[in-house]
Amino acid sequence: MSLSVMPSPQSQATALTYEHQWPGTVIAIQANYYSVQLDVSAEGLKDCGVIDTDSDKSILLCIRRGLLKKLGQQIMVGDRVVVEEPDWQGMRGAIAAIYPRKKFLDRPPVANVDQILLVFALAEPGLEPYQLSRFLVKAELTELSITLCLNKRDLVSDEVATQWQERLANWGYPVLMTSIRDDERLPADLLSTLQGKITVVAGPSGVGKSSLTNRLIPDQDLKVSAVSGKLGRGRHTTRHVELFELPTGGFLADTPGFNQPDIVTAPEQLSHYFPEIRQRRAEANCQFSNCIHRDEPGCVVRSSQENGWERYEHYLSLLEEVTKQQQNLSQQPDAEATEKVKMIEDGKVLHEPRLEAKKYRRTSRKTRNQAFQELCLDLSAVEDLEDLEDLEDLGL
Ligand code: GDP
Ligand code: ZN
Repeated sequence: MSLSVMPSPQSQATALTYEHQWPGTVIAIQANYYSVQLDVSAEGLKDCGVIDTDSDKSILLCIRRGLLKKLGQQIMVGDRVVVEEPDWQGMRGAIAAIYPRKKFLDRPPVANVDQILLVFALAEPGLEPYQLSRFLVKAELTELSITLCLNKRDLVSDEVATQWQERLANWGYPVLMTSIRDDERLPADLLSTLQGKITVVAGPSGVGKSSLTNRLIPDQDLKVSAVSGKLGRGRHTTRHVELFELPTGGFLADTPGFNQPDIVTAPEQLSHYFPEIRQRRAEANCQFSNCIHRDEPGCVVRSSQENGWERYEHYLSLLEEVTKQQQNLSQQPDAEATEKVKMIEDGKVLHEPRLEAKKYRRTSRKTRNQAFQELCLDLSAVEDLEDLEDLEDLGL
């Protein structure tokens, strides 16, 4: 890979800092190729004379350095990485290092996510409180901050909109209301919430998530994504996640919607995921420290006439669900070990036999490392060979 940096005099300092190492964010992965959105803009690259094409993107199609492979370091969408010595003509590069991850989600698999934007519609489809609750609890399980957006504001009266606003404030969630159809501009609060962050957009289908994403991100960016474009594959394949850069900075994760999110948690943990319960427990203690707020005496959470809260019924339903789940699991101690539950598009859940992946990987990596050490191979020679193979795969 060659590097031909010809910095213009006024931007020499920037060019020197970045000459060999370019930080960026992985925005898509397909097979062994990674699309990396560099921190520097296309304008910045042009300014320092690195590229002179009329592309308005600073995205490189990258492979992973052999050393990262040897160390077994996996790269996820959302990872902050360093790309070394890119080939600017072909806009290709190799990822040489991964920054430590702040936080990652496993479904969808995205690293360094800052928040979840939960989108529901006020009408068409009608707002179902219990469905909304399930999505909220599912979002709370990630322990990320949640922004709730109610779309299709144009389809309901002011009175209905205000009622929902007050009702959800009592649940502990402030809401943003939008009408993608009628609003010329999206609410400033929404834009500032998204700015500079990695946000996962979730919600049932039909509520306007794609319409919202399309409004936030210039059309062509959604249609042409670096990896799927180059490798000729579609966007909405199973478990395929991609980040789209917002014009104001930050990224949106484009994920397939699901209708009935599965809530998986221990019964005694469930109460952490209701703001109403968190608030009550901050003010007073239940008599028993392991209270699950069902029928224990001296419970400060249980809803009563003087201490009523709307979602207590939802809490009880979910408590029953997760309790059953736990009982089923304890009756089939091997279920987890032999079966893998996968969320596929539109909330369908796929049960797959689990290959003994961890065990297999552990042995295999160990064996490989041993062989590697015995042979005392020159690391860089191996890297180059592997990179060459990758480039051959790409048809280079
Ligand atoms: P998704 O399944 O959540 O991605 O929803 P879409 O973005 O595909 O939208 C579903 C339907 O709702 C489409 O026909 C949109 O045109 C319509 N829609 C989206 N936003 C609004 C809105 O604010 N008001 C109204 N009336 N319709 C909307
Ligand atoms: Zn209690």
